[in-house]
Amino acid sequence: MKPRTAPRTVLYRGPLSSCNYGCEYCPFAKRKESKAELAVDRAALERFVAWAVDRGDPTQVFFTPWGEALIRRWYREAFVALSRAASIERVCAQTNLSWPQAWLDRCDLSRVALWCTFHPGEVSIERFVARCKGLDARGVRYSVGVVALREHYEAALRLRDLLSPSVYLWANAYRREQGYYTQRQVEAWEGIDPLFSLNLREYSSLGRACRAGSDAITVDGDGTARRCHFIDSPIGNIYDPDFARALIDAPCTRATCRCHIGYVHMDELGLYDVFEGGLLERIPRAWPEREALLLEGRRRRGGRSLHVIS
Ligand code: SF4
Ligand code: SF4
Repeated sequence: MKPRTAPRTVLYRGPLSSCNYGCEYCPFAKRKESKAELAVDRAALERFVAWAVDRGDPTQVFFTPWGEALIRRWYREAFVALSRAASIERVCAQTNLSWPQAWLDRCDLSRVALWCTFHPGEVSIERFVARCKGLDARGVRYSVGVVALREHYEAALRLRDLLSPSVYLWANAYRREQGYYTQRQVEAWEGIDPLFSLNLREYSSLGRACRAGSDAITVDGDGTARRCHFIDSPIGNIYDPDFARALIDAPCTRATCRCHIGYVHMDELGLYDVFEGGLLERIPRAWPEREALLLEGRRRRGGRSLHVIS
């Protein structure tokens, strides 16, 4: 094991666990928290932001909340503060984009990015696209995504038509059912997201090199750090003065890795190159060169997908 001195990417997931949307597949749908719970979340976030700003190392912060964070004022203020801090290279969040956007004008937008997910049962496509156009008008960097359920396909196709061609639209494969997609359906989704195949399979990760734990960590509201969201054992606490000694450069201990925010850190996949400059917000370097990306995705898929029937 080779220790690192500082993680460049920090995923933050505080105690917040509520959302204004009601997606039927989500445990946080329409969940509300008490004032006391929200106060705990706010205090934890403010402590984290102070740490991130003060440490002085080049850092990319990615909010991956349980629920929706940017409807909360303290997350918006955290975004503003982090975007203006000298050592913060990028501040990014996963979001449903359901909030007013004026606060973005106070950010240094050269460091801001958003990972926006469209939830067809929760918001009309017109309303969602209007919010995307609001980001375009402000010059905010963002990607848009959908869960590639069969019943979402037509909406995704329309969304692709309505979004600016400069906006990358990704599709997350639905993998709870083996053989969910026919080959023809995979190709149809690739017409929307040329890298759909990258997300279509699970990656064997046990014993494989992964930068999660050294270059990237996840942090909860107490400051407890884990190498990623998918391995529960803590590696240390960021508020410990000796935290850097906890960073590990070690093989993965899980059998598989199947989520973009995890496998993107696996060395052998080379996805730091594919998503260079847009790793957190999931924007490929080559976008909008669709054909090149399509070839890249198909080459990587080979015949190994666990979830395709032909
Ligand atoms: S928008 Fe996201 S967090 Fe909110 S209910 Fe839907 S899936 Fe869950
Ligand atoms: S391969 Fe996935 S599960 Fe394993 S350490 Fe990396 S991010 Fe975590």
